[in-house]
Amino acid sequence: MEKTLAIIKPDAVKKKAAGKIIQRIEDEGFTITGLKMLSLTKEEAEGFYVVHKERPFYSSLTDFMSSGKIVVMQLEREDAISHWRKTMGVTDPALAEPGTIRREFGFSIETNATHGSDAPETAAWELSYFYKDKDAIEKL
Ligand code: UDP
Ligand code: MG
Repeated sequence: MEKTLAIIKPDAVKKKAAGKIIQRIEDEGFTITGLKMLSLTKEEAEGFYVVHKERPFYSSLTDFMSSGKIVVMQLEREDAISHWRKTMGVTDPALAEPGTIRREFGFSIETNATHGSDAPETAAWELSYFYKDKDAIEKL
C-alpha cells in the first residue's frame, strides 16, 4: 500500500470542515494510519514548504499555515498519492472540479483547505517531517 501525507489546513479547521474531510477520506477507501492535530510555528511552516522558498507566496503561505491548528494525517491506499491529489482537486479552488474537496471547502488559491504530497519522494520526506519516529507510527 502506498502512503501519502494529508493536511487539513487552518482555514478548513476554523470553519469546522475537518470532520467532513476525514469522512470523505475514509469514503475514498483510504486507511488513516496516523492522525494528529497541532499548530506549526512560522519556522516549522517555512521548513515544510522550503521547496517554495523562492516563490512570491512563500511568506504569506507560511503565515497562513502557522495561523491556527492543522490536522496532519498519514493515509494509505493503492495509488494513495495520486488518488488524494485527485480527491482534493487542483490548487485553486475556483478551478477545481465540482465534488473535489478544494472546490467544496477551499476559499482561495492560498486558503485551499488541504495539502497532499505530489510524488513518492516528497511523500516520504513530508511524512518524516511530521512523524520523526517511523517505527512508532507503524505500531499505531
Ligand atoms: N499557494 C499560494 N499561491 C499560489 C500557489 C500556491 O498561496 O499561487 C499555496 C497554496 O496553499 C498551495 C501551496 O501554496 O496549496 C503549495 O503550492 P503548490 O503549488 O505545491 O500547490 P499544491 O501542491 O498544494 O496543489
Ligand atoms: Mg505541492
